[in-house]
Formats: sequence, C-alpha cells, structure tokens
Amino acid sequence: MNIILFGPPGAGKGTQADNISKKFNLHKVSTGELLRDEIHKNTELGVKIKSIVDRGSLVSDDIINNLIIKVFAEKNFSNRIIFDGYPRNISQAKSLDLLVKRNKQKISCVLSLDVKKETIIKRILGRQVCTKCGLIFNKYFKPSTKDSHSCDEKYLSKRSDDYEKIIVNRFETYLNITFPILEFYKNQNLLHIINGDAEISMIYREIEAIIASLET
Ligand code: AMP
Repeated sequence: MNIILFGPPGAGKGTQADNISKKFNLHKVSTGELLRDEIHKNTELGVKIKSIVDRGSLVSDDIINNLIIKVFAEKNFSNRIIFDGYPRNISQAKSLDLLVKRNKQKISCVLSLDVKKETIIKRILGRQVCTKCGLIFNKYFKPSTKDSHSCDEKYLSKRSDDYEKIIVNRFETYLNITFPILEFYKNQNLLHIINGDAEISMIYREIEAIIASLET
C-alpha cells in the first residue's frame, strides 16, 4: 500500500508519518526533508533550493520529479511508501499517478489533515527539529524530554522557514496551489478527511484505524 498524507504546513504530517511508518512498516518519503538534505550538502542546487524554501514558495516540479523518480527506483520501497508533503500541486499529482501505474503500484488512500490557521501558526512557531537524530518536537504540544529524546538539547533547532511571515506565505501557497488537488483524489474515492485540530494521539488513532481497515 502507498499512502499520501496531505495537509497544510504545520498540520503535523511529519509527526504522524513517523508514527505510521513505524507501525505499518512503511517508508516515509518527505520531499521537504529530501530538499533540506540537499540544502545541507551546500551544493549549487542546494543553494538555489534554499532561496525558494526560505521564501515559502514551491520548488520546481522538475527538481521534485527527479527526487521522486529515485524513490521509485528503490525496490525496497515498492508499495510501502507514505508520502509526506507530496504531491503539492496538480501537475505533481498527475506525475505521481503515472509513476505509480508505470511501476504497477497503487495509491491506497489520501489522508487529509484539516487544521485551523491559528493552530497551524502555533504548531509551526513551536516546532523544533533535532539536527542529530531528525526527531520532531514542539515547545508547546510535544516538548523534548529525557524519556522521548536521548540527544543533547543543543541539537534542537528551528527550521529556517518556520518564521511567522514565511508561514503566512506557505499557508497561502497551500490554499491556492496544493488544496485544489483534493478534488482530484476525491473523484477517485481515495480521500479521507481527518480533524487535525485534535490531540496528536487522537489523530494518530483515527489514521491507524483507517489504514488497518485497508489492510483487511
Ligand atoms: P515541508 O517540509 O513539507 O513543510 O516542506 C518545506 C518546503 O519545501 C516547502 O515550503 C516548499 O518550499 C518545499 N517543498 C516540499 N515539498 C515540496 C513539493 N512536493 N513541491 C514543491 N516544493 C516542495
């Protein structure tokens, strides 16, 4: 099964994708993380990507499609992917459809986290990522503790695009360009809407039940 986790920036897609991938033995593919890896390498491409990401705009479809083609070339990932933050526009959704069919796979469901703008701003402003192990925390909702995180506090950092002015731009990009894809998946009967304002553990339970029902 391949799953798409859909929702605005700050909806908690990364956190939920981490939990789901562990439970159902899926590979998380976050295009945002793949882009940040490229940025950290400080290549010419990485510098170009950083300037786009830091504005809160979308990176070109060519760059994204190249990343996704590599993902499909990974035989271990076959029919075991959870996409986080991809596709982000209708052209990416159609490319994904083609790739899935060409590789004789399918999209099993699209889980859309529906979240209020105020919740999003608070979630993003509190977000902390461990630069050592990659775990995601939140100062307000899910703080790093001795039990949940073994790395030193000094590794907790904010993402360079997690500042209020950029968040507003990212949210507008989501509403105008990404949100319309939902119609595409609704027409294919793949869409499940989830209340993303609920507590992290409740959202997870709802998602878990939907995926478990797909497996039977
Ligand atoms: P994310 O980690 O999913 O919030 O993504 C962070 C940033 O990476 C976004 O604001 C975009 O600038 C860029 N990005 C991530 N995924 C995509 C995508 N599928 N298409 C275009 N840009 C993307």
